[in-house]
Amino acid sequence: MTFKELGLAAPILKALQDEGYTDPTPIQEQAIPILLKGKDLLGVAQTGTGKTAAFGIPILHHLYESISLRQNKRKVKALVVTPTRELAIQIGESFTAYGKHTGLRNTVIFGGVKQGKQVNALRAGVDILVATPGRLLDLMNQGFITFRDLEFVVLDEADQMLDMGFIHDIKKIIAKLPPKRQSLFFSATMPKTIVELSRKMLGSFEQVTIKPQQATAEKVEQGVYFVSKGKKPNLLVHILEQQPNASVLVFSRTKHGANKIVKKLAQANIKSAAIHGNKSQTARQNALGDFKDGKLKVLVATDIAARGIDVDGLALVINFDLPNVSETYVHRIGRTGRADASGIAISFCMAEERPYLRDIEKLIKQEVPRLGEHPFMEDAQEEESETKRRPQKPRNNNSLRNNNRSGNSYNKNRNKNRNRNRNNNSSKPNT
Ligand code: AMP
Repeated sequence: MTFKELGLAAPILKALQDEGYTDPTPIQEQAIPILLKGKDLLGVAQTGTGKTAAFGIPILHHLYESISLRQNKRKVKALVVTPTRELAIQIGESFTAYGKHTGLRNTVIFGGVKQGKQVNALRAGVDILVATPGRLLDLMNQGFITFRDLEFVVLDEADQMLDMGFIHDIKKIIAKLPPKRQSLFFSATMPKTIVELSRKMLGSFEQVTIKPQQATAEKVEQGVYFVSKGKKPNLLVHILEQQPNASVLVFSRTKHGANKIVKKLAQANIKSAAIHGNKSQTARQNALGDFKDGKLKVLVATDIAARGIDVDGLALVINFDLPNVSETYVHRIGRTGRADASGIAISFCMAEERPYLRDIEKLIKQEVPRLGEHPFMEDAQEEESETKRRPQKPRNNNSLRNNNRSGNSYNKNRNKNRNRNRNNNSSKPNT
């Protein structure tokens, strides 16, 4: 199926062509026709599946085609609520890109910065509002936002909003929306509270489920190095030094850990920046902006800060720590290999993290290939025997497997990927 066959308005088709989208992703193929019919939707899907366009395109189409564009110009007709500032900004950018020929205007509001500019943008008038829950409620309570003309509401990443403690804010926001509206509800997982919330928000709805395994794990080449806790920074430096020109996203489980990694890399003359909840909004946005523009090659992030971050041509994700929640692994590796691209995800696993690795493998229903040797093996083995765990059996069938010198195994793939994505052949040889 093509976008044209979905019957979308010409300016939107043109914008999608400008973006280089040829065919809809599975979630778009399933969700767009439902939404064009005006139905409510429950989408069980995570970022990386093309979810933003799945809801953004039909909203833009409706607003463009309907007379409300002319009658209620610059009144908030569509609201998207999403948990983090980064996601909000990204969704706003998507609406701008897909709607650039429609004349529709969007703005993004989020906390952590002064409200003045956001209030001015609201006063100037917008058709589509993208917001994080806290600031949205705040500005609603101050009387800067009215939903009299609202036709569409999207609740994005509902399970993460629950994790972040936004559930009460969300309920208050929903209570203020006009009952006659089209509602869209997206969540990667469906715990009981989220099912209840979706029932409250949606009328008669249709459901689309895109499994995370299909969305990411199959397309991302994965590998794991066993390494002691103390040698993880050395291994990271070693890998990064071999790929000075590549954009690499490094995941740390804690904010403190992320800061430590940045310091350690600085000692090795590798420039990086951390994004996490303790960093100011400006620092986070600058770091992310530089990373997206390719000015900053290494970004170290915690899960909350990085969820949903979309960076074109991100070839490598490194899990400095393995997450203790297996689904988080799928979210993390989904930063690379988004939509049609493929990518590489390398995890560092110390002895204590072996149980996490087993849980992850159960979830993704595949073994994460064991990467071969690296220069810091001995410590890992010592640590292993200290914890009295049986060493893992070597596996076959491993495309990332390192048969030569340490660190070389994934480089070939990485270069291939990077060159394809960024058409950049200037990196040093891999040896
Ligand atoms: P999302 O899940 O919305 O965060 O989207 C993930 C990535 O897929 C983003 O980089 C989008 O620009 C990209 N994308 C979305 N839809 C398509 C499509 N139909 N074809 C190619 N890329 C797409």
